[in-house]
Amino acid sequence: MPPLTIAQASCADDYDPNSMPVAKARAFIFQFLEPVQATVRLPIRDALGRVLAEDIVTPLDVPSHRNSAMDGWALRGADLAAEGETTLTEIGASFAGRPFGGSVGAGECVRIMTGGVVPEGSDTVVMQERSRVDGKRIAFAPGQKTGQNVREAGEDLAKGSVALTRGRRIRPAELGLIASLGIGEVRVYRTLRVAFFSTGDELKGIGTPLGAGEIYDSNRYTLHGMLKRLGCDVLDLGVIPDDPPAIERAFREAAASADVVITSGGVSVGEADFVKPMLAKLGEVVFWKIAMKPGRPLAYGKIGDAHFFGLPGNPVSVMATFYQFVRDALLVLMGANPVEPVPTFRATCTVKLKKAPGRTEFQRGILSRGTDGLWTVRPTGEQGSGILKSMSDANCFIILGDAVGNVEAGTTVEVQLLEGVV
Ligand code: AMP
Ligand code: MG
Repeated sequence: MPPLTIAQASCADDYDPNSMPVAKARAFIFQFLEPVQATVRLPIRDALGRVLAEDIVTPLDVPSHRNSAMDGWALRGADLAAEGETTLTEIGASFAGRPFGGSVGAGECVRIMTGGVVPEGSDTVVMQERSRVDGKRIAFAPGQKTGQNVREAGEDLAKGSVALTRGRRIRPAELGLIASLGIGEVRVYRTLRVAFFSTGDELKGIGTPLGAGEIYDSNRYTLHGMLKRLGCDVLDLGVIPDDPPAIERAFREAAASADVVITSGGVSVGEADFVKPMLAKLGEVVFWKIAMKPGRPLAYGKIGDAHFFGLPGNPVSVMATFYQFVRDALLVLMGANPVEPVPTFRATCTVKLKKAPGRTEFQRGILSRGTDGLWTVRPTGEQGSGILKSMSDANCFIILGDAVGNVEAGTTVEVQLLEGVV
């Protein structure tokens, strides 16, 4: 069966564009996302934040040699006395990067450092804290076990095994892992190109004095930041006035030059009246009232080959809808696999929250650790969808699900961190 078109999918029986649950809108969008195909080879440092377009198969055993996990002595397990101390003769040393050339025979041992190659003939390392030195005679405490403190070659990664799979985003740990395999270049997906513009006659650019009723455009700045953090190439098309021919030109230009087009403003009920027919001409777009706050109006579709996200105009709504819908969709388009939503966890809310059931609220919260070591959360204050300071003060969203009503102080709520550590 061919995949559904956006128009077909939006005609499904249980589909209510006037009250679209967050999860359902996400699932709808995800049906239409095909990752980019083109790839590039990059030196590994330049690949930070990019998505692997190939499996990384280890060309060598990691570790490459059987080596010691401890500072101590390497010896033959068969020499260990069944009871009491074992005393052996030291015949040489094996340091990390400077192996012992000979072989360990019965009654012999070799001084060894962490990472040193375990010499031929030996199979066991006794740590120095369990040993007593008397010249070249070394006495080992009872209770040692054959094979202890030895890391086998290939124990971490066997030669030929897959160290990282295609779709993995490269973080600092992946950079180090790839380097540890001796690999200097990797194949990654090309970067995603995202064009965006703001709409509204009231919007002015920085450097222009404000007239009556005018405000500075901030959405292009939050979008710039969120997209750059994700590793996208951005194309900022500026502020477009509420003038249909100008908006249509901007849509055409954006769709022709980018993989994804994002707008802010212009999808609320009144304004959508002229944007809707225009987009119907240019592509296939659905308009929703999402059952969420902030961020009620949202549009998604295709304009030519470009994916289109029409975000609300209010600055906090832009960020909330970006994090709940656009971020994960962009990761899929970037080739990341699997793509998981930003994790949530539970914390105790210290104050009473007002909330109407029937929609999901993303209140801006401040998580902090109490003296008892447990995490608590409180809202940042006024929660209006135009108050960008509420996002700036926040370190998390407090997510109050559809079914939740007013929240009493001391109740456990779901929170989603705004900041990652890797
Ligand atoms: P709209 O969705 O276009 O009706 O806009 C909703 C609210 O968000 C209005 O108060 C707009 O002035 C405001 N708004 C729209 N776009 C922006 C923007 N780019 N920067 C700051 N505020 C905006
Ligand atoms: Mg507007």
